Amino acid sequence: MARNLDPKCRQCRREGEKLFLKGEKCFTDKCAIERRNYPPGQHGQKQSRLSGYGVQLREKQKVRRIYGLLERQFRKNYKDASRSKAVTGEALLQILESRLDSVVHRMGFGASRTEARQIVRHNGILVNGKRVNIPSFQCNPGDVVEVAQPAKDQLRIKGAAEAMESRGFAEWLEVDAKALKGIFKARPQRSELPSTINESLIVELYSK
Ligand code: SF4
Repeated sequence: MARNLDPKCRQCRREGEKLFLKGEKCFTDKCAIERRNYPPGQHGQKQSRLSGYGVQLREKQKVRRIYGLLERQFRKNYKDASRSKAVTGEALLQILESRLDSVVHRMGFGASRTEARQIVRHNGILVNGKRVNIPSFQCNPGDVVEVAQPAKDQLRIKGAAEAMESRGFAEWLEVDAKALKGIFKARPQRSELPSTINESLIVELYSK
């Protein structure tokens, strides 16, 4: 399956903010944004003013990178959101947050979304007691998500869960970090998601 192989810190520097793509490193002073917060490349430090289209494009790229999706996958999620009865931008964020790789990451079973996706792909996750190895699988409210037995012994998973527990879990999840098991209680409300995302710019971009 195709993946975005651009260096992760470079993606954050392009967007000018922390996208938290590298797990624990993102919470240390080794973070590239803390050290060099300007776009990568030869002309990175030149001031440039974005057009309206440029602002919309950057916002879409930022969200796409946060969730680690390629354009085709992201656009499919957008189409699904636009077909729903809810406000499109909010529905898009809910779809992204309901992806199994997102839920696994938010529950702390993977230090980053990339790591969470790898655990899902390698049959490390059970949903309602059944193995699911599709990262884009949409979780429904009430679903029980759990690390499968052989993977439960992996130190990196235990360590990631402990680190996430110390930072606090998202409101829409109930997690037992010791048992490596959690419940996706509900789809997140907009107020529970980062205010640094402006989803209406994405809707404007795709509505052209
Ligand atoms: Fe982004 Fe994390 Fe790299 Fe910082 S350490 S630039 S937040 S990926």
